[in-house]
Amino acid sequence: MKLFKNSQATFGIIYSGNAQAIDNHAVSEMALFIRRCEGGDIRVYPFKPTYEYENYMCIGADDDVLEQFGVRVPRETFTDDTVYILVKDNVVVLDGGKRGQLYAVYEFVERFMGVRFYLPEEMKAPKVKDLEIPDCEIVYTPKIRFRNLYSNDMRRDRDFCVRHRMNTENDPLNMENYGGSANWAKPDCHTTFQNLLPPEDPEYGFDKHPEYFSYIEAQGKRVARRHMDYGFPWGEGEICWSNPEVIEILTERVKQWVLNEPRMRIFSVTQNDYGTYCECPKCKELAYKHGKDGKPRWSAPIVYSVNQIARNIKAWQQTDERVKNREILLETFAYLYGKEPPVGMQVEDNVIIRNCVSFCWLHDTDDETCPYN
Ligand SMILES: [Zn+2]
Ligand SMILES: [Zn+2]
Repeated sequence: MKLFKNSQATFGIIYSGNAQAIDNHAVSEMALFIRRCEGGDIRVYPFKPTYEYENYMCIGADDDVLEQFGVRVPRETFTDDTVYILVKDNVVVLDGGKRGQLYAVYEFVERFMGVRFYLPEEMKAPKVKDLEIPDCEIVYTPKIRFRNLYSNDMRRDRDFCVRHRMNTENDPLNMENYGGSANWAKPDCHTTFQNLLPPEDPEYGFDKHPEYFSYIEAQGKRVARRHMDYGFPWGEGEICWSNPEVIEILTERVKQWVLNEPRMRIFSVTQNDYGTYCECPKCKELAYKHGKDGKPRWSAPIVYSVNQIARNIKAWQQTDERVKNREILLETFAYLYGKEPPVGMQVEDNVIIRNCVSFCWLHDTDDETCPYN
């Protein structure tokens, strides 16, 4: 199909008669890229126009309209993120799940129109004089469900973030234009001392229960404190992940958090941003048991604990009507001393491991000349 001929669009856009915010956004994004690549304004319709176009582009169009083109979109097989692109005879179909339909627009303009999203203020939209697209069908669902890039460019520009198919903009509400977000409950991460089990907790804090906190071998004692005068997040120590009572407390606090945040889906059970961790006999045993080449993996006590909390949450969901139909996921880090995975340990399917990659901002992650890689 020739989508552009001599710098003229050969098509009109058809969208849904019941378009929601996300559908409107997908259409207006496409119209923007057409203006930038080709220069002209495009006409949009919620039905097949009586005026004959050479070609049509259907973005989330209604089934009865698609039928007129002999097309059926298998929406029943889609998740929120599924992308669907079909080019057939004189019609382009951009469709998908809730967010997937918007992603289909970005996939299409990147793949076929040469658009690139380099920086929030730097988009490449090459002038397109003639564009021929072969018939094709592209269907995919991103394998990574929780897509977050911890970069200022992403965090400060929601459009840039979504154009890169991230779904974890740090503003979980009012995201209708973008098909919602992954709904990641505040305070985001580093939650052990922040909101799950602070050392100054009146009931379970360090004064009453030092055994709930990290034994640091080099100091020969249990350690847990926050340097409040530096503000968040500096401090020392960690919870003792393997202590069964700690796992119970964390479970109850996650439950309360889930109830307090009815719109949220992802709850972070993550280590502090400090370099210290518990080396008590039980934590140590787990770290060595799931270590490699005789060396401990300190991720083991974390994953062991988060897995148990995740199983507790799953069991709770089966019995409590308030949370029965909610999707609840726990997130934990592969980070600092806990970066290497525990050998022979599987994570529960309601646990997300958030891989916090290299600290190097200069080299590609597979560049072996970088000392950090
Ligand atoms: Zn321990
Ligand atoms: Zn480097």
